Amino acid sequence: MKRRPAGSLSSPGRRAKQRNRSMAFVPDFKPPSMIPKDALWFLFQKQKLLTKRDDGRYLIPRSRDIEDLDPRPEPMHFLGLLEGRPCYAGELSPFTDPPITFALKRIRSLFERLEPPLIGLAGLAGQLILWDRNHRFCGRCGQSTRNKRDERAKVCPECGLVNHPRLSPAVIVAVVRDDRLLLAHSQRFPGEFYSVLAGFVEPGETLEACVKREIREEVNIQVKNIRYFGSQPWPFPDSLMIGFTAEYAGGEIRENPSEITDASWFSVDNLPQIPSKISIARQLIDWFVENHK
Ligand SMILES: [Zn+2]
Repeated sequence: MKRRPAGSLSSPGRRAKQRNRSMAFVPDFKPPSMIPKDALWFLFQKQKLLTKRDDGRYLIPRSRDIEDLDPRPEPMHFLGLLEGRPCYAGELSPFTDPPITFALKRIRSLFERLEPPLIGLAGLAGQLILWDRNHRFCGRCGQSTRNKRDERAKVCPECGLVNHPRLSPAVIVAVVRDDRLLLAHSQRFPGEFYSVLAGFVEPGETLEACVKREIREEVNIQVKNIRYFGSQPWPFPDSLMIGFTAEYAGGEIRENPSEITDASWFSVDNLPQIPSKISIARQLIDWFVENHK
């Protein structure tokens, strides 16, 4: 079966982004010489992020919050500075049983509960930890790899092979036919909703060619006037969603049964259940609604 992103959801909503524009993050991979008490720790146990409970809210723990955890977590990756505060990614031992003041949460469940820069950093941290786990040994000669000193990469000391964190680009497209939007449901969606179509970019392909191929393969529709809309990191596990709008250019809907269970054209006053506010999929649908009222 062809790889396909879940085609929806993800990081910061636009309004929330504007509200938090002041929370500046400066990415970096070289850690400061000391870990300060107020450093932020993005710690994972399996797929879940360690958060601190605070009166119904969830916070990212600081150095002083994790001092008593047993065993005490070690930093695996330095992420950069959030408002001057160092941020680290690490793993929590499977034997650590965090006290009741903490909660282990899946990132998706925190989308609307963590400030946008924090949810983005949690995604980055989870992505780097997975990359770390999957690249401990050289894929070419089997030797143990080391972190490179001058960039975020792993190098094999034996054969010199360098591996950067993997990123899988995927296009996501709002196709408009007059005053109607193409939406589809896939059995792979984590819910009953309909969304705009998405698919992974293949080697040797431009983004525009990928848009045309995906829409044709999934629903037998041709598109034209492809325009860039925006992008969104989607760390499940390592995608970057690249959004486009496009116009219908021909064909009748014929769903590819291995990809799509149902697809149709929807007008603004006839929309089905759609993805949550934080996704670029929803931003594309909101763009259509704004422009077709
Ligand atoms: Zn090697």
